Amino acid sequence: MLKNKILIANRGEIAVRIIRAAKELGIETVAIYSKADADSLHVKLADQAICIGENSSTDSYLNMNRVLSAAISSGCNAIHPGYGFLSENAEFVEMVESCQIKFVGPSSKSIEQIGDKSSARMIAKENHVPIVEGSDGLVLSVEDGLKVAKKIGYPVMIKASSGGGGRGISIVRSDEEFKNAFSRTSLEALSNFGDGSLYIEKFIESPRHIEIQVIGDEEGNYVHLFERDCSMQRRNQKMIEEAPSPVLNDILRRKMGQTALKLAKAINYVNAGTVEFLVDAKQNFYFIEMNTRIQVEHPITEMITGVDLVKEQIRVAYGKTLSFKQRDLKIKGHAIECRINAENPLKNFMPTPGRIDNVLFPGGFGVRVDTHIYPGYNVPPFYDSMLAKLIVYAPTRLEAIKKMRVALEQFVVEGIDTNIEYQYLIMYNPEFIKGVYDTGFIQRFHLLVEEKNNE
Ligand code: ADP
Ligand code: ADP
Ligand code: MG
Repeated sequence: MLKNKILIANRGEIAVRIIRAAKELGIETVAIYSKADADSLHVKLADQAICIGENSSTDSYLNMNRVLSAAISSGCNAIHPGYGFLSENAEFVEMVESCQIKFVGPSSKSIEQIGDKSSARMIAKENHVPIVEGSDGLVLSVEDGLKVAKKIGYPVMIKASSGGGGRGISIVRSDEEFKNAFSRTSLEALSNFGDGSLYIEKFIESPRHIEIQVIGDEEGNYVHLFERDCSMQRRNQKMIEEAPSPVLNDILRRKMGQTALKLAKAINYVNAGTVEFLVDAKQNFYFIEMNTRIQVEHPITEMITGVDLVKEQIRVAYGKTLSFKQRDLKIKGHAIECRINAENPLKNFMPTPGRIDNVLFPGGFGVRVDTHIYPGYNVPPFYDSMLAKLIVYAPTRLEAIKKMRVALEQFVVEGIDTNIEYQYLIMYNPEFIKGVYDTGFIQRFHLLVEEKNNE
């Protein structure tokens, strides 16, 4: 039998994370990289590395033919897509399937059904999963959109059906704003995701973002791995995540877990996925989207359950049975993740690429750093600004917060600006410490920081 060999169709920390998991499983790894990433850590750590093109993602990590050619020419029998890039691209997954290569993720059919956010809403509705009030499917014109907005009442959100990473979302509070935002959001989505189609949702005031990690295998076994609370967001993108959520009780936890599994089963979903919900002040929950891939914040779930999600993803892709059952899983302790970004929070979170002259990572009991950076590494301006994920794990939430403070204090990055200090300040914020925050937290916190800064 041929040896298993995986191509990692990504870069940065997630490429490194996947290489480690594959190596632990005794599987050979092939990295791909753009010219700008020639000195990147994933290139050094993989057994083999193939340059697939120029700096821009369209000429490299998003170029389906080149990624696939690299897999075929190096003899890989599987591709792990990581997150972002081609991970939720049904066309790419179909190409992979037709080459008899295993895709470490769901089928192209599942992605087509549930990866599109507007169609996912309809599938959720058909399966009695509560959704946010909004349009039935896509909204094709401003006139149609205005009708929906009138029916559900302002404020509403105009959202790109192919959107991700918090982009392609606008809040509007009047017909006037709606008219302006509609075409702007569509154009923005078209240039970012190659698809300008839009749908509408009622804007939920001060919700929490709570998501459920699920995984299924080819035999129809399904398990959920509890929740992650990702309400700490800047510009609708997560910055700090924690598990378990400080506001969920066991009854709601079980209900949300079962609802997420109901949706996964309804579409015969295989591999890891995340069902995202908004939870309002009255603890009603509403489905917003399903991410059909590994998520950035998966490590906090790994810490509280003891399950290596990436290894499990790979096992399932090779046709193995899930190595655990629902009854084997229990939440133990508390985990927090801070996304360390090359950005300046005080300059509107502007990206700060450049040379990292020196870096010192925190460590010790319960501290984990998932990263691709090292002293002398040059952060290219072409991709995501995330440099590292700092994850802490402790028996209780308060101990985890204290551990995170120490870890952030000891995380030194010299040469470029980062959001480390900003997150350090959040760890001392009374609202955060109490755990009663919502998705508007950072916006409020930001005003305080700016005020202090101007004094
Ligand atoms: P997660 O959903 O894993 O919590 P993000 O929303 O921050 O995290 O997305 C992770 C990465 O994937 C980011 O770099 C983001 O830009 C990218 N991404 C997410 N969704 C899409 C999409 N639909 N199209 C392109 N890139 C995406
Ligand atoms: P993405 O694909 O970019 O991850 P999501 O649909 O998951 O987009 O939404 C990202 C974030 O935007 C949510 O976590 C939430 O903070 C905010 N958001 C999205 N939809 C709504 C809504 N209907 N009401 C209030 N906030 C929302
Ligand atoms: Mg989302």
